[in-house]
Amino acid sequence: MNAATEPMNLLNLNQAGLEAWLAQLSEPTYRAQQILQWVHHYGVTDFSQMTNLSKALRAKLAQLSVIEVPEIAYHQQSIDGTHKWLLRLNCGNCIETVFIPEDGRGTLCVSSQIGCSLTCDFCATAKQGFNRNLSVAEIIGQVWVAVRELSQEQTTHDRRVTNVVMMGMGEPLLNFESVVTAMDIMLSDLAYGLSKRRVTLSTSGVVPMMYTLAQRSPVALAVSLHAPTNDLRNQLVPLNKKYPLEQLIPACRAYFADEPRRKVTMEYVMLQGVNDHPQQAHQLAKLLQGVPAKVNLIPFNPFPGTTYQCSEPKRIEHFRAILQQHDLTTVTRKTRGDDIDAACGQLAGKIIDRTKRSQRWQQKLREIKDVA
Ligand code: SAH
Repeated sequence: MNAATEPMNLLNLNQAGLEAWLAQLSEPTYRAQQILQWVHHYGVTDFSQMTNLSKALRAKLAQLSVIEVPEIAYHQQSIDGTHKWLLRLNCGNCIETVFIPEDGRGTLCVSSQIGCSLTCDFCATAKQGFNRNLSVAEIIGQVWVAVRELSQEQTTHDRRVTNVVMMGMGEPLLNFESVVTAMDIMLSDLAYGLSKRRVTLSTSGVVPMMYTLAQRSPVALAVSLHAPTNDLRNQLVPLNKKYPLEQLIPACRAYFADEPRRKVTMEYVMLQGVNDHPQQAHQLAKLLQGVPAKVNLIPFNPFPGTTYQCSEPKRIEHFRAILQQHDLTTVTRKTRGDDIDAACGQLAGKIIDRTKRSQRWQQKLREIKDVA
């Protein structure tokens, strides 16, 4: 089948995209709203069930388009109610999506790429290498699948998706257009109707795209800071060599320039003896002086082969207390789902690495073992 005749996966289109696509079929724009609602609000993938569309249109849609959602390869549920789905994409790769129920809130952690091209030293996904960007359908498909699966579950855990964090596999700002379009669908009242404050994009600090995001989407922003100085950040988040703190901090300052009450979340993974010294807490407070920011301390989640360790709880508490003395709102993130490897930085999926980084990582592991 060539590109001209290949059916359109309607999951790839937000309202504007659907309107444009339907205009080519000489259909009025309100049809886009109806379809968006059927697919995302009601979870219907069979055109024949879309009863407020004319029979002729249903037939046309069935001929020209598909509604293709990711297939669940594997599902696990943690004792704390966290779910993890391994989703198989039609290229044979798998990605992971995690749902975390907590205090009346349900947060879905969504992936944006197969693997990741960045090389953060403490992240399991980074060790897997990079394959490709996810399509809009593959990103919003994770939300579609989770919402459907949770609605069928019978437990006492809250099972509604109220929040989405783009904190799964991949760097969302390096897959900008697809991520922004998928987030549009998350926010649309015809689809998932999530509040702009409850959809958060997390970035390692792709500075130019942070400015573009501020123009294009109203979502919340989290930045993986992890270090108070360039020297240490270069080591932990090598993207810092390209966009150092002198560029990153002004981009954070600018992000909510028009909404003075909103704050950027600074993520800081707690690594024993690396970035958790009280002096580093003071440095961090100084760095964030005057920046509309709050800090999220993340206990490090180990994975096979890593040499990092999580800071001791007492150390994390002390670090937090120092930041709070400096009037920085600081919370420590609870680790969830670690019994099913669903915690931050543990998402590894099952991917074919185009960069061959995983092979290099395996080689490195063998070398470490040889030396030990
Ligand atoms: N690329 C994006 C989003 C994916 S990572 C980003 O860097 O923000 C989501 C969050 O999990 C980031 O803050 C990341 O630094 C953190 N993380 C990665 N590996 C981790 C680990 N092993 N333990 C705890 N947090 C980790």
